[in-house]
Amino acid sequence: MSRVYNFSAGPAVLPEEVLREAADEMLDYRGSGMSVMEMSHRSKTYDNIIKEAEKDLRDLMGIPDNYKVLFLQGGASQQFAMIPMNLMKNRVADYIVTGQWAKKAWQEAKLFGTANKIASSEDRTFSYIPDCSDLPISENADYVYICENNTIYGTKYKTLPDTKGKTLVADVSSCFLSEPVDVTKYGVIYGGVQKNIGPAGVVIVIIREDLITEDVLPGTPTMLRYKTHADADSLYNTPPAYGIYICGKVFKWIRSMGGLSAMKERNEKKAQILYDFLDSSALFQGTVEKNSRSLMNVPFVTGNEELDAKFVKEAAEAGLVSLKGHRTVGGMRASIYNAMPVEGVEALVKFMKEFEANN
Ligand SMILES: *Cc1c(COP(=O)(O)O)cnc(C)c1O
Repeated sequence: MSRVYNFSAGPAVLPEEVLREAADEMLDYRGSGMSVMEMSHRSKTYDNIIKEAEKDLRDLMGIPDNYKVLFLQGGASQQFAMIPMNLMKNRVADYIVTGQWAKKAWQEAKLFGTANKIASSEDRTFSYIPDCSDLPISENADYVYICENNTIYGTKYKTLPDTKGKTLVADVSSCFLSEPVDVTKYGVIYGGVQKNIGPAGVVIVIIREDLITEDVLPGTPTMLRYKTHADADSLYNTPPAYGIYICGKVFKWIRSMGGLSAMKERNEKKAQILYDFLDSSALFQGTVEKNSRSLMNVPFVTGNEELDAKFVKEAAEAGLVSLKGHRTVGGMRASIYNAMPVEGVEALVKFMKEFEANN
């Protein structure tokens, strides 16, 4: 067996300890005589798995009692519709467009009401986070929407926008559990888990209880109402059972690593190794303004497309895989999520130095 250093943006690297444990439990989960994949989601054994996952997540993030934790399906993209369908009481919402995912969410919301683009960074290919200290927040906005870490462009909010009292809704897919978070600043925090937490197929929604109501837009299907899932503790129908089980293991792994403060420290250390090299390199350049840099996704270029392609190919041959940038940015992107060890980033920088010397 040989494992590579996987810099994929998602689905992405998971902690090896978690994968080994899941492998050990594959045929017989703790004396049940079956795999978690084969187990009724109504069984006592599974109930313990999902309850413990929720408890560990609550402990890690310090989620207050007046917030529900929902384990749903449909990916982050389904939330682009669920959010307006459930929260757009006045049919008005404000969106800050900092990349493709925020833009898709904004466009989806327009299907349901007035979705105002109150700030954007599209003028410079989403390479920065706009100043959000004094935005033209709509008086009757039901919420203000952000994508907190922009997976494709490699930017992250360093301070949350001033929403002037309006509910903040955040897509945190690619920065979930990467650092401590003050949940009380948000109405909804959600993310697909396949970036930083687990296998594709699970989306976690952390939502303040007063936002879960029966007063949803007319025609909102039962399955797309937060209330349906909140009332049933995420067991209204069959949840993505195996995926939630793996998420639970990742929560325990993060706890064993020291929790979110320790994760942040480790992530800052990894990102600094890479950014320091990019800032000193004559060949490679980062594409993001320094004060907007993400700890999780690091795009960079050589300025020469052929050389970029050569780099991606040779890196893969050296066991550093999935470094090709998103098609809209080009170049390279290294996603260095929680589970990427420091050694992986060091190996990448070492390889980049050698490539620079040879080209
Ligand atoms: C990947 C990603 C999405 C889309 O996730 P799906 O689960 O594929 O729908 C949305 N937002 C962000 C920030 C992402 O990184």
